[in-house]
Amino acid sequence: MKCEECGRFMEADEARELNGKQLCEDCYIDAMTPVKTCDPWATYTASRLEDQELSSRQEAILACIDEKGGATLSELLAATGLSEKDFLREFAALRHMEVAAAAQQADNNKVFVRFEKKD
Ligand SMILES: [Zn+2]
Repeated sequence: MKCEECGRFMEADEARELNGKQLCEDCYIDAMTPVKTCDPWATYTASRLEDQELSSRQEAILACIDEKGGATLSELLAATGLSEKDFLREFAALRHMEVAAAAQQADNNKVFVRFEKKD
């Protein structure tokens, strides 16, 4: 099946329903987070890859991911003290910088990991 947002092919068990649409993981997280690619500040931040500076919140998220080699949402919220909404906003920025990514585990739980280039 295809993601109704970006048109990318995905497995049926990858699909996330939001407002009646079947979305892929990336589009779902984007839809759940307020950072948009047309946001000039987010684009500016994401384009400064060479001298990117992480906020203390983002560093706390990465520290938790590194410590466990991948952390669940509840582990990250406990470790950082952020609300889910704040966490998703920070995580969206990390995704735009290609520092972190979300992955699906075999038991269907989402786990947050370091971004790895697939090439
Ligand atoms: Zn998509």
